[in-house]
Amino acid sequence: MAPTSEINGTHPSGLPIDEAGPPPSALPNTTTSLPPPTLHPATLAIHADDRLNTHTDVAPPLHTSTTFRYPSDPTALTPWSNTGPTHIYSRISSPNLTRLETVLTALLHGPALTYASGLAAFHALLVLLNPRRIAIGGGYHGCHGVVALVSKLTGLAKLDLENPADLARLQPGDLIHVETPLNPTGEARDLAFYAAIAREKGCVLSCDATFAPPPLLEPFRWGVDVVMHSGTKYFGGHSDMLCGVLAVRPEVDAEKGWVRRLAEERVFLGSVMGSLEGWLGTRSLRTLEVRVQRQSDNAGRLVAWLDGELRRREGEEGGVVARVVERVQHASLQPEAREEGSWLRQQMPRGWGPVFSVVMREADDARVLPSRLHLFHHATSLGGVESLIEWRAMSDASIAKTVLRVSVGIEGWEDLRDDLLQGFRSLLEERKGTTTTEAS
Ligand SMILES: *Cc1c(COP(=O)(O)O)cnc(C)c1O
Repeated sequence: MAPTSEINGTHPSGLPIDEAGPPPSALPNTTTSLPPPTLHPATLAIHADDRLNTHTDVAPPLHTSTTFRYPSDPTALTPWSNTGPTHIYSRISSPNLTRLETVLTALLHGPALTYASGLAAFHALLVLLNPRRIAIGGGYHGCHGVVALVSKLTGLAKLDLENPADLARLQPGDLIHVETPLNPTGEARDLAFYAAIAREKGCVLSCDATFAPPPLLEPFRWGVDVVMHSGTKYFGGHSDMLCGVLAVRPEVDAEKGWVRRLAEERVFLGSVMGSLEGWLGTRSLRTLEVRVQRQSDNAGRLVAWLDGELRRREGEEGGVVARVVERVQHASLQPEAREEGSWLRQQMPRGWGPVFSVVMREADDARVLPSRLHLFHHATSLGGVESLIEWRAMSDASIAKTVLRVSVGIEGWEDLRDDLLQGFRSLLEERKGTTTTEAS
């Protein structure tokens, strides 16, 4: 599990790194100051970039320069070299992004690169692989938008991941792209199943694991070749930065050199993050594990509560929840979640994703509920420390108007439960109010 860049002291792309600090002679011995690769992810999140910490600052400095001085020694000048020992221009690399990518490489267990957004990362993946066909399921609508743009340029054909007849049409070199857990339901997909198909067909398997950041899911363990994240969500974690991430399984990268090519192509795509975002991202990753575990735990408790309330429907008098909610969707409610040793339990042993869907009985209730809540912002996106709820029709044209998507934050879960309950109650009271007015 040792990320290779940890050992050889280079950038995840294989390009040498620069410290943007004192000259190399003043640096600590980089090989002995590396964190042992056996460290716990929570420790790596704090220490994976220690060797880039060449100032006395404890908190990483923010570097804003877009351009970096060439060596002052004329004999050290190599014309037209992007691979010198220092940063050159921030479209190629820059100190804050290198730090962020170093920590991501340790946490994702494969060399990682960042992009200006999740969709920019997905675009870069399609440019790298240039597949003839992509098998893709439901999930985040924006990725389908990127596929449509690339199709316009290359004739890329879209196949349906859920359709066996479409999977039979896959050819070597095609791409299978699996989003798990899936937007907006939070239900998971079996990566090992798709890895077997990818092997049989000679396809590349990529996974959009945005909804299950570390430590919840480790896609490389289940045969995924390239992991994509919208780092805007859990990596950023505070709803204040856009970020995309691609990481390549180390064995695949050793054979194909994809991360180096991605880094070279990113120079011309121009889709790099800004330095402030790189700085924010590094700061955020320090707390990734505690945030995600708390969010996952909160979501599990809320879903279990809602599900329990819905089950009361039969027999007992229906509670408030059952009168307004049709059903709840989440990985914890998939049948395999209850089966010991199931693919779902194996692939997500540390908890479920912190996003779930609530399908309301009435579309009108789905539209109104967010305005009746005090602790949930009515907003799109997810992954931040603050809980969000979205009437999903606001941002996804293809979705039923009864669907609410919930992104659970790190608040006390009982407060979130009570807020939802008073929101459901106020829907029922308003309805009663309307009926009385109509009757009178
Ligand atoms: C948000 C999101 C994206 C797109 O990421 P941006 O950072 O907004 O470009 C892609 N996939 C999933 C699953 C997402 O939630």
